[in-house]
Amino acid sequence: MSGKKEKFDVIVVGLGPGGSVIGYLLALQGFKVLGIDYKQFPRFKLCGGLITLKTQKIINQIKPGALEELESKKIIFFSSPRYGIGFPDGVIYRNNLQACFKIVDRTSFDFYWYSCCKQSGAEVVVDKVVNVDVENNAVRLASGRKFFASCIIGADGVFSVVRKTLARQQFLKNYSEPGLAIALETFVSRLDFPYFPHIFFANIPEGYFWIFPHKQGYCVGVLSAKLTGQELKKYFFDFCRKKLNISPTRLFGAYLPYGNFTLNSGYKQCFLIGDAAGLADPLLGEGIFYAFKSAFILAKSFSCFPDFEQIRKRFYIEISQEVREFKAAFWWRKIFFTLSKLDNFKLFQWMFEKKSYFFEQIIQGERSFIWGKIKTRKSK
Ligand SMILES: Cc1cc2nc3c(=O)[nH]c(=O)nc-3n(C[C@H](O)[C@H](O)[C@H](O)COP(=O)(O)OP(=O)(O)OC[C@H]3O[C@@H](n4cnc5c(N)ncnc54)[C@H](O)[C@@H]3O)c2cc1C
Repeated sequence: MSGKKEKFDVIVVGLGPGGSVIGYLLALQGFKVLGIDYKQFPRFKLCGGLITLKTQKIINQIKPGALEELESKKIIFFSSPRYGIGFPDGVIYRNNLQACFKIVDRTSFDFYWYSCCKQSGAEVVVDKVVNVDVENNAVRLASGRKFFASCIIGADGVFSVVRKTLARQQFLKNYSEPGLAIALETFVSRLDFPYFPHIFFANIPEGYFWIFPHKQGYCVGVLSAKLTGQELKKYFFDFCRKKLNISPTRLFGAYLPYGNFTLNSGYKQCFLIGDAAGLADPLLGEGIFYAFKSAFILAKSFSCFPDFEQIRKRFYIEISQEVREFKAAFWWRKIFFTLSKLDNFKLFQWMFEKKSYFFEQIIQGERSFIWGKIKTRKSK
């Protein structure tokens, strides 16, 4: 392959859920797509794997019947309406949702979308993108190979090379390196704890703990936007020892977008989606939905408009709706984390007892983060 100039319609950098879905949808539209990921799939991705109702809905919009297929293949291995909210003193509230939370095994979930992308006709290369030439629409790989395309899509996660390139060359406004959280997770096979998702507030500055079902038992995790890795580790060990009576032997760590979203997720023929655009909600860090949603609306913009100017405008309009949601979610985060600092679990308990349906519907995508307004069919 090396030596000759290879040209594609679209190069997708990164083949996580966002990159694989945009690759899949554009290849279905007849574009000549090249997907590049430096990891060989199936690959491990640190994640809680929880998918809310809005994510379940968009999965079937992307590929009708996919949700059922994921369930029948046990890639979605858990489904339940039960959830719990905890405080330092223990679990303060448990309830049933109207629609279930589901949990996916991320390794096989990502491999499913990666396979869809390949089967739809996209070409795939395993290599690392080390340089992006935005003006000439070219990417250079660690191996030295160079590929050209009419359009480059950065779906390369939280430390996106594409985003960094756009920012470095001043094409991206509002870029900020802060706005990331550090997360830690450990996996345990047995735990004397109910087998449905729980979130614990108030134990930690600007963050929370979670205990989710995992394919081989439980996933216990924590994130914080304020603490260093070492500090976070200390909090995590304390939580595990005091609340669960365990001491983790293997810890996994990763960064996630937690407020570094950008409205300028495109320049000329270059676009950013998913974590690369900072599209994870800044309250809970939910990101799978936004990776799918940004891929879906970008693919829709490609199918409706003939030129990049119009594709970018359309994409910008729709992404700005999500960014407005994130700005409101930021306020919710301030309220939650300020209240949790008061250490008044009765207030939290009262809030959930009185308004649980309200918070549940926001998280499930039925209500907006903006004043909790009910979403219309179109705005979902
Ligand atoms: C601990 C933790 C728990 C989480 N829990 C949840 C949860 O329960 N529910 C939820 O909805 N979200 C959760 N998230 C967020 C979610 O994992 C991400 O938002 C989601 O994976 C974003 O998808 P993506 O396709 O944008 O990026 P990614 O999934 O990160 O995929 C990016 C891909 O790009 C590749 N790549 C990166 N750089 C390059 C390069 N230079 N060249 C080539 N390839 C490259 C990577 O190998 C990777 O495969 C969690 C995140 C963390 C860290």
